[in-house]
Amino acid sequence: MNTTKVAIIGAGAVGTTIAYTLAQRNFPAEITLLDIDEKRCKGEILDLSDALVFCKTSTITAGTYQDAQKADIIIFAAGKRQEIDQKRTELLSSNKRIVHDVIKKIVPFKKDAILIMVTNPVDILTLQALSLSGLPKKQVFGSGTILDSMRLRELLAEHLKISARSIHAYILGEHGDSQFPAWSISSIGGTPLLEYPNLDEKLLAQFATQARERAYEIIKCKGATYYGVASCVAALCENILFDQKALVPLSCFNQELELCLSMPCILGKAGIEQQPAIKLNTHEIDQLKKSAAIIARDL
Ligand code: NAD
Repeated sequence: MNTTKVAIIGAGAVGTTIAYTLAQRNFPAEITLLDIDEKRCKGEILDLSDALVFCKTSTITAGTYQDAQKADIIIFAAGKRQEIDQKRTELLSSNKRIVHDVIKKIVPFKKDAILIMVTNPVDILTLQALSLSGLPKKQVFGSGTILDSMRLRELLAEHLKISARSIHAYILGEHGDSQFPAWSISSIGGTPLLEYPNLDEKLLAQFATQARERAYEIIKCKGATYYGVASCVAALCENILFDQKALVPLSCFNQELELCLSMPCILGKAGIEQQPAIKLNTHEIDQLKKSAAIIARDL
C-alpha cells in the first residue's frame, strides 16, 4: 500500500492526538508535525515515537513548511483554544492571523492536496483557508459538525441501546452555538427519529442541547477537548485514503450562502465529491439561514 503524506500543523493537544489516533489505527502514513513551539513539538514526537513500537505502519517526524507543500493531506490544528465559558468565535482574531501566516508560508500546496481545518472558529477559518490556499473548493473543508453529530449519535445510542453506527443523525450549520439538529434527514433503519419508539420531540431536543453543550462541559472539567475531534479527523483521513465516499457533515463552501458551514457531504479520494441535495423542513431552513447569518457577521 502507498504511504500517504500527512502534515499536521499544530502539535498541541488536538494535533498530537490526531497523529496518535492515525498511528493507532495503522493508517499507512508519513506524518509530520509542525509547531511554532519547536521544543514542545520535539517532546511530543519523542513521546509519540514510543507508542509507534506497537503500530508500525506510520512514521511521525518534525515537519517543515516544505513538507506541508508536498503533503497529500494537511490538517490544520494550530492556534488558540477556548478557555472556560469562552465562545469559539472569541478565538477569531488570533486564529485568523495564525491561519493567514501559516498558509501563506505553505502555498503552493500540492495540486491534489486536501486541507482539513480543525482550528476554531472552524467555519470562518475554512473559508479563509480556501481563499488563501488556492486549492479547489472540494479540497478544503472543516471538521465542522461531524463532532457534534457524533456526540448526538452517541447520546441516542446510549438511550436506545443501538450502535451509534446504525444511527443516522445530523447536526448542521455552524460548529458553534447556532448549530441545529436536522431531524427531517435523521433516521434509524429508515424510520425518522421523530417517529422512532422511545423518542419524542422533547427528548430529541434535550439530546441536541447536550451535544451542543458538550464542549463547554469538557473544557470546564479538563481545559480542552481532543479525543473526540481526533477520532473524527482520523475517520475523515480514512475516508479519503480508502475512497470510502461516506456521507459526513463537514464545513464546506455553500454556493448559495457564499460561506462555509456544515452540510452532509460525500467524502472520497478527491475530497468533497458531492454535496447531496437534502430536503430540510421550513423550520430547519430558517435555522440554517440564522446560522449562516451568524457566521457572516464575523467574516
Ligand atoms: P493547544 O494550545 O494544545 O495547541 C495549539 C498549538 O498551536 C500550540 O502547540 C501552539 O504552539 C501552536 N501554534 C500556535 N501558533 C502557531 C503557528 N503560527 N504555527 C504553528 N503552530 C502554532 O490547543 P488545542 O487544544 O490543540 O486546540 C487547537 C485548536 O483546535 C483550537 O483552535 C481549538 O479550539 C480547536 N478545536 C477544534 C475542534 C473542532 O471540532 N473543530 C475540537 C477541539 C479543538
